[in-house]
Amino acid sequence: MATAEVTILGAGVFGLSIAFCCSLRGARVRVIDPAGVGAGASGGFVGALAPHTPDLWLPKKQFQLESLLYSRSFWPEVEANSGILTGFANHGRLQPINEERLVPLALSRISDAEQNWGDKAEWQVVSASQAGDWAPPSSTGQLIYDTLSAHIHPLKATRALARAVENLGGVITPAGARQGAIIDARGWQGLIEISKTLGQEFGNGVKGQAALLDFNSPGKPQLFSDGLHVVPHLDGTVGIGSTSERYFKSPIKNDEQLDDLISKAKKLFPILKDAPVISRWAGVRPRAFTRAPILGKHPVNPDWFIANGGFKIGFGMAPKIGEVMADLILDGVDHIPNDFRARASLESEK
Ligand SMILES: Cc1cc2nc3c(=O)[nH]c(=O)nc-3n(C[C@H](O)[C@H](O)[C@H](O)COP(=O)(O)OP(=O)(O)OC[C@H]3O[C@@H](n4cnc5c(N)ncnc54)[C@H](O)[C@@H]3O)c2cc1C
Repeated sequence: MATAEVTILGAGVFGLSIAFCCSLRGARVRVIDPAGVGAGASGGFVGALAPHTPDLWLPKKQFQLESLLYSRSFWPEVEANSGILTGFANHGRLQPINEERLVPLALSRISDAEQNWGDKAEWQVVSASQAGDWAPPSSTGQLIYDTLSAHIHPLKATRALARAVENLGGVITPAGARQGAIIDARGWQGLIEISKTLGQEFGNGVKGQAALLDFNSPGKPQLFSDGLHVVPHLDGTVGIGSTSERYFKSPIKNDEQLDDLISKAKKLFPILKDAPVISRWAGVRPRAFTRAPILGKHPVNPDWFIANGGFKIGFGMAPKIGEVMADLILDGVDHIPNDFRARASLESEK
């Protein structure tokens, strides 16, 4: 490869989405990751692309909305450029409403969604009979159904992104020269290293464990209840996740916390009670102290850029992050929300 115009450190969904957007615009891209594609948080199998609630509107929610809407064309474009299926599908999400006092709140959000989501997606309150056999039990008999939620198979999508970048002329390598614009997308390990350099906590890692079940239900909406995601993949598997562990010994080992999560999932979603577990996985989510992504100017090296802090919604945010980072790096156009800048993260810690 000729001299790279863009060098990205980290082959997770953040680094590779930026690499893809830059490659589509004709830039010569090099992605460096000593551990390989999808070795970090992006190598799992949950993949809920789900919105925050449509009320109390904030720039972070607007960015997420735009990213989820952009996902509808972004992932098919990745598939077209890679020849690999990402598992992307836009089948919405069902959430049982288990307390009577929450029904009026859920109903009030119908008009919030009309106002803030526009005509691209809907927030509905439906009865259990309307929702069908796949719907989880609901103590009130009511469920929220939103049409904005989509899902993806994270590991397949990450591999598809990598292949698309290579097909567009980019290079993905365990080691190489850092040339051109340098983007730090090193996930939780990058956040820890930045914290050490700054001598103050900038971000950290939150471990998650997840399981994959053999249960054929493609085309069904994803489910969400009591913090637990159920994602019916197109390949006849169902991802369930995830634990949330601030303190952990091994970043990749599974333990009894995952057994507890599987038992909880089978109680909350009885339709899954006989589904065999076919795979277990763990990864560490990169969490900035703002809990928002960190984009733009690097907090340590003024000549670098950063894209990190995807935390629990990294796959939903990645398409728009790829786009705004390519705008910034290649065209000098800055569309990054102020709350997402490294400075905001540092100030929140003061
Ligand atoms: C159990 C679990 C379930 C999740 N479920 C969902 C979900 O349903 N929906 C959703 O949107 N998100 C979900 N997430 C979050 C999502 O996976 C992350 O937000 C996202 O993967 C972060 O992507 P990333 O590219 O920033 O980090 P990573 O994927 O961790 O990538 C960082 C990369 O940097 C590399 N690296 C480290 N050090 C260096 C170095 N010195 N030089 C070069 N490279 C380096 C690592 O090897 C790694 O490959 C989940 C996460 C977990 C753990």
